Amino acid sequence: MTDPTSTPNAADPAADPFAGPAVVDAVVVGAGFAGMYMLYRLRERGLTAMVFEAGTDVGGTWYWNRYPGARCDVPSMEYSYSFDPGLEQDWEWTELMAAQPEILSYARHVADRFDLRRHITFETRVTAAHWDDERQRWRVRTDAGHEVEARWCIMATGCLSVPNTPDLPGLDSFAGTLLHTGRWPKEEPDLTGLRVGVVGTGSSGVQAIPVLAERAGQLTVFQRSPVYTVPAGNKPLRAETAAEFKARYPEIRERQRNSATGFLGPLALKESRPARAEGEGGTGGGASSGGGGRKGLLDLAPDEREAAFDRFGPGAYQRFRDVYLDPEANEVACELFRREIRKIVHDADTAAGLEPREYPLACKRPVIDTHYYETFNRPNVELVDLRRSPLVEVTPAGVRTTDGEVALDVLVLATGFDAMTGALSRIELTGRAGRPLTDVWADGPRTYLGLQMEDFPNLFMVNGPGSPSVLSNMIVSIEQHVEWIAAALDHLAASGHTTMEPAPEAVEAWVAHVNELAEGTMYTAPSCNSWYLGSNIEGKARVFMPYVGGFGRYRQRCTEIAEAGYDGFVLA
Ligand code: FAD
Ligand code: NAP
Repeated sequence: MTDPTSTPNAADPAADPFAGPAVVDAVVVGAGFAGMYMLYRLRERGLTAMVFEAGTDVGGTWYWNRYPGARCDVPSMEYSYSFDPGLEQDWEWTELMAAQPEILSYARHVADRFDLRRHITFETRVTAAHWDDERQRWRVRTDAGHEVEARWCIMATGCLSVPNTPDLPGLDSFAGTLLHTGRWPKEEPDLTGLRVGVVGTGSSGVQAIPVLAERAGQLTVFQRSPVYTVPAGNKPLRAETAAEFKARYPEIRERQRNSATGFLGPLALKESRPARAEGEGGTGGGASSGGGGRKGLLDLAPDEREAAFDRFGPGAYQRFRDVYLDPEANEVACELFRREIRKIVHDADTAAGLEPREYPLACKRPVIDTHYYETFNRPNVELVDLRRSPLVEVTPAGVRTTDGEVALDVLVLATGFDAMTGALSRIELTGRAGRPLTDVWADGPRTYLGLQMEDFPNLFMVNGPGSPSVLSNMIVSIEQHVEWIAAALDHLAASGHTTMEPAPEAVEAWVAHVNELAEGTMYTAPSCNSWYLGSNIEGKARVFMPYVGGFGRYRQRCTEIAEAGYDGFVLA
């Protein structure tokens, strides 16, 4: 394959950002796993491409989230690219679920191995993208002054790439060090002997808290909503396990692609079972598949339920399908879950503070941990239950609640992200007739398959809202989207079309379908407030954003649509 970017066509705006609009076939925004793979596939097709990335290197999530304890919650043998057998065979993971530094090294290795950096402009944020109806092209602008014209614009901007900094009164006045888990500094701060506070007990907080407790002098956890978290069971990856995976990768990858969550977990090395039976994927995947077990918790006698929790610990709830669908079964599971917390946490008051009561199990994303509850038995860790003593303000010296002031040297915000729509809504993005995305999405995101939006021709999203994305092993869903987009570009080239966009009625039907699937699950229970619903961000429309019907089923639908001549899309 020739390298088209070395032809005169491939103006390099990075060389001289002010030289006037450069012309490429495709602009890709973001150089996480999605943007890197998209670039690879575009180049393979002989297309010219420019990738813009706000960070100084590849890796996306794993570049920005360097907080202590950060690691993936999907086995790394499965949370890795499958597109290149050589890469799959060569890379060695050291742990079942690798930590952030190892995943970032992997991303860097991929960039080197496929010589990707050459076409990525780092430290550059795309600020605007406008569809030019006359020229049938996107005009993309960056904060470094680039102006690029491209037929295709691919948004690989990430579902969880815009940190949410809550508007806490007095936050700006804090005189100590303020950190956000989603923007952790490259140089690890020395916390030895310091008084550290953490706000937020979602996945990031739960991963960081046990490690921060080991490093800090004193750790105070300011908790608004207690979390339901289950032990990760992480461990070093045995050489024999890795070898067996590698020997069986083609079969395992195929099963991943047909599973509900894009990963198999403990089932991966078991003999193949029918695809519909797979997908619970062990630790984190239960919610997306609606629970793996066939038996209901309510089918068991009370002593059998207790025995299940005694045997499997707090994660036992994932074995029962009715916990995901029936409020009564859910509350039974919640009570057994709370009992598990009381068993682990010695101080009764602290245990009570850690018990979730306001929302059901399986309403938020599953969280897994390493010694989270045990951490509250340490003498240097204190829980401040903001339900009992709400946060009043951040002061120069610390955090004041209705119970008094806690003095702090460091305040860590583990307060999450403006998820799924945040990165796109921060770009000045206009479609046909200058229609702004922010208007189109005012009442929640509207897409067809999470891949395209009406009136935004030739713009594709990788893992856009309306696709399984965050409910799946995201590398698997990234590969599926990138491959689908690449095949669509091939189809358009072969059929002489130059634009592609969804028909309004296809968008309407897809949005209705996505909503319908989520209705009646714990995800949309009235007491559930989650980032899936946008409810962590003030003013954001309350709409369940990901597709909950299962990755395998979604993938099948995308394939059928392509095979039917891109049914629901308008090719012109
Ligand atoms: P990202 O990795 O978010 O990359 C997007 C990139 O786009 C970023 O680097 C960003 O800087 C850049 N960007 C955005 N807007 C612009 C702009 N306007 N201009 C220029 N650049 C821009 N998923 C799993 O499946 N399993 C896990 O175990 C898992 N663990 C996670 C742990 C953490 C702490 C977080 C935050 C997420 C986790 N995820 C996990 C989800 C994770 O985001 C995906 O798995 C995956 O890494 C997403 O890749 P991406 O390329 O789509 O997006
Ligand atoms: P999150 O799940 O949204 O959690 C944010 C936490 O901050 C919540 O406890 C929230 O409380 C709290 N919070 C927010 N605003 C607050 C305020 N004003 N006052 C007090 N508390 C406040 O964010 P996250 O933990 O960063 O995780 C986001 C997603 O990233 C995860 O769901 C997951 O998809 C991914 N992730 C994965 C892993 C992994 O295990 N691999 C690790 C980290 C992140 P409320 O609940 O009350 O709003």
